[in-house]
Amino acid sequence: MADKTALSPPKMQEGAFQLGLLQFCNQSVKKCYGCGQLLKMQRGDGQWQVPPAPNDLVIITAMRRPYWQNGVQKRGSPSNVYFLCRVECVRAMQAAFLPFLVVIPTVLRPHLLPVHSQRLAQELGLSISCGRVSARVCVLKRLRRGGKEVIKRQLVLLQPMPSK
Ligand SMILES: [Zn+2]
Repeated sequence: MADKTALSPPKMQEGAFQLGLLQFCNQSVKKCYGCGQLLKMQRGDGQWQVPPAPNDLVIITAMRRPYWQNGVQKRGSPSNVYFLCRVECVRAMQAAFLPFLVVIPTVLRPHLLPVHSQRLAQELGLSISCGRVSARVCVLKRLRRGGKEVIKRQLVLLQPMPSK
């Protein structure tokens, strides 16, 4: 098991793009830097909640946020910015963005579910082979080679809620 510090995104460099999962990002991350849409949901008690997969996927890069000082617009040092997993969102701020530039960290792969792979394929045209994605998927694959009963269990595993 990878520890959480390895899973939290590093301080990114400008021009570098990395895939992340919201639950491992800084808690203060709330909005898409491209479209301004909220990345998290606010519960009745005011707590921010990470949405269910695959809506917890984010694309992270670094940008110099503009600020004003004595009437002059300046740019800060590069800091991480977070986008929805959508090409349009990243392109809104980074016109030269290309989906294949997104790095998927090895430590993140065990946490990626089939729905994440689907989203990555749909939105970014990235395909991740099962073996490289997650232990969960591998188990499913191995189960698939078994008999009918095993296939039933596979369907249960694919459901996000435990069925009883
Ligand atoms: Zn957006």
